[in-house]
Amino acid sequence: MVPSPPSDPAQAARRIRLLMLLRRSGITDHRVLAAIERIPREAFVPAALQDQAYEDTALPIGRGQTISQPFVVALMTQALAVGDRHKVLEIGTGSGYQAAILTRLCRRLYTVERHKPLLDHALAQLHVLGITNITGIVGDGLKGWPSQAPFDRIIVTAAHRTDVPPAALTEQLGQGGILVIPLTKPNRAQYLYRIIKTAAGLESEELCPVRFVPLLPNIATGDASSSGEG
Ligand code: SAH
Repeated sequence: MVPSPPSDPAQAARRIRLLMLLRRSGITDHRVLAAIERIPREAFVPAALQDQAYEDTALPIGRGQTISQPFVVALMTQALAVGDRHKVLEIGTGSGYQAAILTRLCRRLYTVERHKPLLDHALAQLHVLGITNITGIVGDGLKGWPSQAPFDRIIVTAAHRTDVPPAALTEQLGQGGILVIPLTKPNRAQYLYRIIKTAAGLESEELCPVRFVPLLPNIATGDASSSGEG
C-alpha cells in the first residue's frame, strides 16, 4: 500500500537533491520530509514534463491550473502541523500531489476540486499509489464540506481574492483547528496565512509572499479550453 521510491535512478537522484534543497530552505519537520521522500511527484506531473518533476517549480496540469512548487507544498504542510488523528479538508485537489502528501500524515483527507476532469485524474493517480484514506468531490470549496465538518485542519491551495478567509471555512474548523490559506491584500499581493481557531476567536499569522492560481466560485463548466495563470 505504500508508494515506493522511483525505480528510475535519475529521478531518484533528483528527488534526493530536492529534499536537500527543502531542508536548506527551512523545512525541518521530519514527517513532512519523509512524506515528500515517499510520494513520487512524477505520478502527478504530465508525461511531457517528467524530467522537471523534481524541479522546485510549479508546473501546468491542464485547465489553466498548476501543481504547486514543492517548497510551497512542504511549507504549507509544515505550517498545518498535521497529526495522525486529524481529519483534514483540502480545497483545490488539482494534480492530487498535495493531497498525497497529506494522506501520509493525517487520518483521513477530504478534498474538493471545481474541475471534474482534474479531480478524476487525481483520484485515479492516488488509487494507483494505493492511497485509500481520501475522499474527493467536485464542488465549490468556498463552501467547504458542511456535512463532514468539523475539521481539525483545513488547507486551501488557491488564492482567496480578499484578505479575509471564507466564512464557511472558518466555521467548519474545529476548536483549536488550523487553517492554512493564501489571501490577497488590498494592494493585490498574495500572502500565505496560518489561522488558528481559539476560544477567543481567530488568531492570524502571516507566513510569506506566494503566487497561486485564484480560488474561483462555483463548479467549473466542461470547457476544456478555459485558462488561467500558469
Ligand atoms: N493542491 C494542488 C494545487 C492545484 S492548483 C496540487 O497539489 O496540485 C489549485 C486548484 O484549486 C486548481 O485545480 C483549481 O481548479 C482549484 N480551485 C480553485 N477554486 C476552487 C474552488 N472554489 N473549489 C475547489 N477547487 C478550486
